[in-house]
Amino acid sequence: MTVTAIDKEAIRQKYAEERNKRLRPDGIAQYLQVKDQLAHYLADTYTELQDRAALTDHVTVAFIGGGFAGLVTGARLVEQGITDVRIIEKGGDFGGTWYWNRYPGAQCDTASFIYMPLLEETGHMPTEKYAHAPEILAQCQRIGKQYKLYDNALFHTEVEDLSWDDAQSRWLIKTNRGDAFTASFLAMGTGPLHVPKLPGIAGIESFNGHSFHTSRWDYDYTGGDPSGAPMDKLADKRVGIIGTGATSVQCVPHLAKACKELYVFQRTPSSIDVRANKPTDVDWFNEMATPGWQQRWLENFTANQTGGMASEDLVMDGWTDLSRRIRTKVMSLSPENMTAEKIMEAVEDSDFEKMEQIRARVDTLVEDPQTAEKLKAWYRQLCKRPCFHDQYLQAFNTPATVLVDTDGKGVQQITEQGVMVDGREYELDCLIYASGFEVGTEYKRRAGYDMVGRDGLKLSEKWREGMKTKHGTHVHGFPNAFIVQPTQGANLISNVPHNLTESGRTIAMIIKHALDNDKKQVEVTQQAEDEWIELLLAGAAAAGGGVIGSPDCTPGYYNNEGQDPGPAAKLNVGYPSGATAYFEYLDEWRNNGHFEGLEFR
Ligand code: NDP
Repeated sequence: MTVTAIDKEAIRQKYAEERNKRLRPDGIAQYLQVKDQLAHYLADTYTELQDRAALTDHVTVAFIGGGFAGLVTGARLVEQGITDVRIIEKGGDFGGTWYWNRYPGAQCDTASFIYMPLLEETGHMPTEKYAHAPEILAQCQRIGKQYKLYDNALFHTEVEDLSWDDAQSRWLIKTNRGDAFTASFLAMGTGPLHVPKLPGIAGIESFNGHSFHTSRWDYDYTGGDPSGAPMDKLADKRVGIIGTGATSVQCVPHLAKACKELYVFQRTPSSIDVRANKPTDVDWFNEMATPGWQQRWLENFTANQTGGMASEDLVMDGWTDLSRRIRTKVMSLSPENMTAEKIMEAVEDSDFEKMEQIRARVDTLVEDPQTAEKLKAWYRQLCKRPCFHDQYLQAFNTPATVLVDTDGKGVQQITEQGVMVDGREYELDCLIYASGFEVGTEYKRRAGYDMVGRDGLKLSEKWREGMKTKHGTHVHGFPNAFIVQPTQGANLISNVPHNLTESGRTIAMIIKHALDNDKKQVEVTQQAEDEWIELLLAGAAAAGGGVIGSPDCTPGYYNNEGQDPGPAAKLNVGYPSGATAYFEYLDEWRNNGHFEGLEFR
């Protein structure tokens, strides 16, 4: 489809109509916090709680979160010879997202070779281009075992209190298991999407059938298992699923095969591009995987995905295609047309073309034209999380699978028997919430603790007007503490583990430097933090707004459900020159021996 064949104004208008239809005055408050009589939706259905004695000892490093962030930081610390590392994790094992999300069909959406951490170090070859969840969870466990991180880990444990003891130069950590131990250094990587949320639909507590959230899949009820065994217990069940985001897209094809009747309740369709998963060719892998291969792949993907000029594209998928299209369009502008306005136009044209293709794909795969029409996404591709799947759309050709489109309004009510939409009640035996995770709620509420730094300064107070760090990692007033996450660093959203691996490496080097030089404290200076924020804000102002998070987009968690997120949101940015430049900068920063901006005392 060429851009000349597209009526751009008509599409813009359609996008605006669809967005406006979905705007709600309650924004993120439309969702229910999972607590009180809903708290059972959080129960760990995978691992039994083990009794253990409360701890009151001391460790060199404590890490909150046993997902990728904790594992890669733990591994890098061990590589530096720092083995006294305690990971604290609310789940019953390592894995984070991959511990909780075991729904049928769960798989990574970014290529395994760059998504799965420490492949070269552990000698694991991903079996598929997009590995399924059990393989990713096994990789987490492999890292835990190889680096002996299990020895000191605390599972089914949630931090409740964190405070800095300046006189002793240590953190005091209290947990819901009665622990009160200390750590010389503290790091945390709790992930952005770890607290399940439920839709605030009237009557949600009244449903008499069985129900669960996708991140707590109940295989006892459905039959089957995370590796894809058929869910035989659903053969006589009427099942409903609320939500059509990235999670639903992956599990609906499996439900469609298993249920007597499946009702998919849709508020906004996802964009579904080609997946093209394939098994890994072992001979190809063995030839390709020469020393340093994973780092080369990581850097190549980042360069391709974030607009760099890499000469080859190793990953070759929907993510790099998206950037390549934009780059090609922009580079085809004549020198006199290389203006900010024309560049924005070229970016928009490339988006129109891509979305027209994605909408046309629906028509080729979905037999019923009315259903096909309702499955078309009317927004710019990065307004919502792009999805990639080769069986989701076809699932609606299964006679027992019914798309219940709510025309942007959402489910009207939940009753004792089922779900009401547009005055019609759909009777169900089981209701599955694919309703996502809390984003944008107060950090204290999601974390379950508020970090108290030097002189009683709380992190919630320090960040009242927005997040302030250097590199997204160091916060003035919070010595010997490190945060592992992408914002205010590379901000590479298309491959989050790359951000985490680089942070882990950096933190391990800083702690090693402190220990080797007998320094009790390390802290970013106020000046260095201020200068970093100034640099980020100047870069963001010069770049203008992108599509992700834009208020013009259809509502979702990317843009605070379409509501003004307030001034603090302007700080949710990355390094102005992009992810590749950031990683190069960081490498120089940590290797030149100065750790500029940090004070070692
Ligand atoms: P999302 O937040 O993306 O989706 C929630 C869904 O629930 C949306 O379709 C939403 O509709 C719908 N919904 C909410 N309220 C109602 C209501 N009242 N009535 C009907 N529908 C409703 O959650 P997911 O778990 O799908 O995904 C969260 C994120 O997790 C993804 O964006 C992605 O980043 C990550 N993820 C990654 C995967 C991977 O990498 N392999 C796989 C799965 C998830 P609406 O769109 O209108 O708000």
